[in-house]
Amino acid sequence: MITIDYDKCTGCGACYTVCSANAISLKMSVGGHNYPYIDTNKCIECKKCEKVCPILNTSNMAEKPIIKIGNCLNEDIRNRSSSGGVFYELAYYIIKELHGTVYGAAYDSDFSVKHIRVSDIDNLPRLCTSKYVQSNIGDCFSEAISDLKNGKTVLFSGTPCQTEGMKKVCPDNMRDNLYLCSVACHGVSSPVLWENYRRALEYKNDSKIVKVNMRDKRKGWHRFSMTVNFENGKEYSKIHDIDPYFKLFLSGDFLRPSCYNCKAKGLLKETDFLIADAWGYESHTAEKADDKGKSVICMMTSKAVDLLQSVNIVTEEYSEDIIRHTHHSIFESAKNNLTESPKLKSMNGEEAVNFFDKNGKVSISRLVIFYLKLFAEKVGVISLLRKCKL
Ligand SMILES: Cc1cc2nc3c(=O)[nH]c(=O)nc-3n(C[C@H](O)[C@H](O)[C@H](O)COP(=O)(O)OP(=O)(O)OC[C@H]3O[C@@H](n4cnc5c(N)ncnc54)[C@H](O)[C@@H]3O)c2cc1C
Ligand code: SF4
Ligand code: SF4
Ligand code: SF4
Repeated sequence: MITIDYDKCTGCGACYTVCSANAISLKMSVGGHNYPYIDTNKCIECKKCEKVCPILNTSNMAEKPIIKIGNCLNEDIRNRSSSGGVFYELAYYIIKELHGTVYGAAYDSDFSVKHIRVSDIDNLPRLCTSKYVQSNIGDCFSEAISDLKNGKTVLFSGTPCQTEGMKKVCPDNMRDNLYLCSVACHGVSSPVLWENYRRALEYKNDSKIVKVNMRDKRKGWHRFSMTVNFENGKEYSKIHDIDPYFKLFLSGDFLRPSCYNCKAKGLLKETDFLIADAWGYESHTAEKADDKGKSVICMMTSKAVDLLQSVNIVTEEYSEDIIRHTHHSIFESAKNNLTESPKLKSMNGEEAVNFFDKNGKVSISRLVIFYLKLFAEKVGVISLLRKCKL
């Protein structure tokens, strides 16, 4: 039976997927993040969970990844996507030409974020754009395996820890029809923090949210905004370096604990694609920047190289050397500004619930308590108190 390490577990759900005794469920725990919970009465000690956990079974790095930058030609899709709309075009090809299915993160009706299965082009835009919060994987690994068993081609997208989970649960004889597409990942914040922010915005605007776009490009790709629309016609829109939710996310202090020691970093072998924002590409190519968005496309398998040739995007050569200099988040874990200690790197559930005040602003008292706790952890006060308690 697997032992859950709260600082390392990514909540990917691979252990939950393979447990045929139904002894594992995913439940909200530390910091409002999902963790597996094991019912020891049901466990039959088969150890399947240990065999698939990406933390216990890390992947090797790809030997010769092919790196390109590119964007799709459809301006509407490019505009709806975080960077160049490369994900949409890959997904479009899988559904339209290969009659396959695509899995990825979408907003639910209450604007929480969860993974869904998409098998028709009309629903594909739901997966477009980055949602900067952990997506609930639900039963998507099992559904994807079921699709593969039925002979379908599957494109599974998500954060690198999620695609690693999918890689581990997929039987070897089904790998040929599975494409894995990771997004470069700075880290994810707690679903509870995101819920708290939505509720605060709804309270302030006296209306229900009807649309969210965390990568609104109306002011340009570089000055992307958090834009939220309400039932009463009001709109909230603030550039990422002003919006309070983004400020917390980008500060790096409020991520899932596993994001500070991420085992899914790098260009991992057998992950077909890793896509990222091509920030700074204009300094490395002859191309003029148009501020509409461009993606870095890393391909770790020959299958990925073949697929990219079939899709409707323009590409240009790029190199691993460049992205090693420009894209630290692909290779290195986020740093917490105040402490290197793995403990208390994320808020406890109660703090996450009340972090934003009624006006959608960060609650100063919560912020002070949070940083005091981090400081106390850093100087060892909390571990001393814990020892005294024992
Ligand atoms: C949490 C997060 C952190 C990121 N951090 C960085 C970074 O530090 N540097 C960088 O260059 N790029 C980062 N990205 C990736 C970047 O924002 C774009 O997703 C990427 O450039 C691809 O853009 P696109 O236009 O091709 O596709 P888009 O349409 O923008 O991307 C859609 C894809 O993102 C996936 N996705 C969206 N939200 C989530 C989520 N919450 N969890 C899992 N998958 C999700 C969808 O499943 C789909 O595969 C991050 C993305 C996310 C979700
Ligand atoms: S050892 Fe087997 S039965 Fe027990 S939790 Fe793990 S997968 Fe489930
Ligand atoms: S990392 Fe994934 S497989 Fe490992 S314990 Fe956590 S949820 Fe389970
Ligand atoms: S930083 Fe690593 S652990 Fe955190 S969500 Fe991204 S891939 Fe997963």
